[in-house]
Amino acid sequence: MINIAIDGPAGAGKSTIAKRVAKALGILYLDTGAMYRAMALQAFRSGIDVNDAEAVCAKLDFSLIRVAYQADGMHVYLGEEDVSQAIRENHVSKGASDISKIPEVRLHLVELQRKIAAENHVVLDGRDITSYVLPRAKYKFYLDASPEVRAKRRHSELAAKGVCMDYDKLLAEIIDRDYNDSHRAFAPLTRTEDSIYIDSSDLSIDEVAALILSYVDEKVEA
Ligand code: C5P
Repeated sequence: MINIAIDGPAGAGKSTIAKRVAKALGILYLDTGAMYRAMALQAFRSGIDVNDAEAVCAKLDFSLIRVAYQADGMHVYLGEEDVSQAIRENHVSKGASDISKIPEVRLHLVELQRKIAAENHVVLDGRDITSYVLPRAKYKFYLDASPEVRAKRRHSELAAKGVCMDYDKLLAEIIDRDYNDSHRAFAPLTRTEDSIYIDSSDLSIDEVAALILSYVDEKVEA
């Protein structure tokens, strides 16, 4: 199977690029962050503190998380409910970063991710794909950009949706999440030595996608 692993910090453009690459190759895209977000959303809705590992493990129903592919791509479900939109709310981002520190949560989601990767040609993006989920993937990338560029991108993204957020607040949130993601004990965000490093600060989406595609020397069998 063709497995393309892309890691990097929040807002580096991973999901846009990964979607682009998957579409160009005609293969699936798996947004692993969406799975952590769905876990956090379930906790919020059930009144469970995402920092309370014991409560999360005892009360959260891990089996509700499901990924399904439709004509427009990947959707995340909690049971029968499609939560693909609900997980994009800004407050879910920090919750996902907090709940993702809990090893039991990670182990459950990693198992689902590895199963999808074993059965499908897929581009996966996240924080621990190159280091922990698929360390032996043939194609591994680390996509980076400065915190300022990432905050600016997020600011424009939200503005385009009519949401006005303070730039400095977004920058602080990004720096906080970077710290959280790269300092957790289990499977933190790291740049592995065998990942190709791409700084997207001064590159367009098309340029980054083309760069990644230039390394992929296989054709997907029809
Ligand atoms: O990629 P996204 O920003 O949607 O991910 C939300 C959070 O989920 C991240 O801040 C990170 O803490 C967590 N995550 C993770 N491992 C992954 C993907 C996401 O810990 N593979």
